[in-house]
Amino acid sequence: MFTKARTKLTLYYLGIIMTISLFFSFIIYQGATIELTRIENMQKIRRPNSAFLIDPDLIAETKSRIFFSLLTLNIFILGVSGVSGYFLSGKTLKPISEMMEEQKEFISNASHELRTPLASLKTEIEVGLRDKELKLKTAIDLIRSNLEEVNNMTKLSNYLLELNKFQNSSGNLKFSKVNLADIVKEASGKNKVKFNLEKVIINGDKDSLTELSRILIDNAIKYSGGNNVEIVTRKPGIIEVKDKGIGISEKDLPHIFDRFYRGDKARGKDGYGLGLSIAKQIADLHSARIKVESKLSKGSTFKVIFS
Ligand code: ADP
Repeated sequence: MFTKARTKLTLYYLGIIMTISLFFSFIIYQGATIELTRIENMQKIRRPNSAFLIDPDLIAETKSRIFFSLLTLNIFILGVSGVSGYFLSGKTLKPISEMMEEQKEFISNASHELRTPLASLKTEIEVGLRDKELKLKTAIDLIRSNLEEVNNMTKLSNYLLELNKFQNSSGNLKFSKVNLADIVKEASGKNKVKFNLEKVIINGDKDSLTELSRILIDNAIKYSGGNNVEIVTRKPGIIEVKDKGIGISEKDLPHIFDRFYRGDKARGKDGYGLGLSIAKQIADLHSARIKVESKLSKGSTFKVIFS
């Protein structure tokens, strides 16, 4: 598909360039030969036997020389613009093709994540239905386990909706003056965390910033068992979420903001590897940066820096 689109785009480029080139060649040819044609006509009508006649063969030869020079120029332009058009169309289409590849990979990851709990739901229900003497307790356990799977799938679909909502679009955000201290307090909910808060007013969207803070705080609690999580806000516009948990290896660190990426040590804990990509999207929409400092088995600090 990429090759087909590239060829098509090259032909469009060629079409445009050659139309312009032929148009100007025609004008140049007309301009250069108009005087010669005039002299030729005058000689034919007025003084056919004059001693000062310009040889008509010379006029014809000059005209054909101009014509062939312009023809050579056009062939040269055709070749150069064909090659450069092919190169340029490749460059133009590259980001689109990369985006499509990314989208394809995303859909395949999302379907894979949804298929696993669906398969387990299906098996449990089928086994339950096959058991003709199913006891009430077993049935309740089965429903409870099914509900857990359904909850997991709801979480995943919420993440997917959020990813879509914040993707390169600030259209869904309502910017106003917000206090970062209030935001992190709301995001912490009933979790036991240590606060070190300074009142910091920035221009931002309250709901999405609460979501960003919630993602960082939930991760800090999840990956540290909830011990010693500290949240700091300070001027000019910084949120810090610190934990003394499992930390992140150097190998994982460059990838933790990629969609569906989960660190080796995170595999045992629930999650889909989407939280930090959503957090980054929200930070990008606020022109903020997220910085991470982490040491394996020592803990991590996530810093959101608003400019
Ligand atoms: P999830 O937590 O669902 O795996 P995230 O996108 O939130 O997905 O995080 C991506 C990865 O970053 C995690 O799998 C984990 O390896 C690492 N990570 C994020 N936050 C922390 C943290 N506070 N401590 C240790 N590792 C973390």
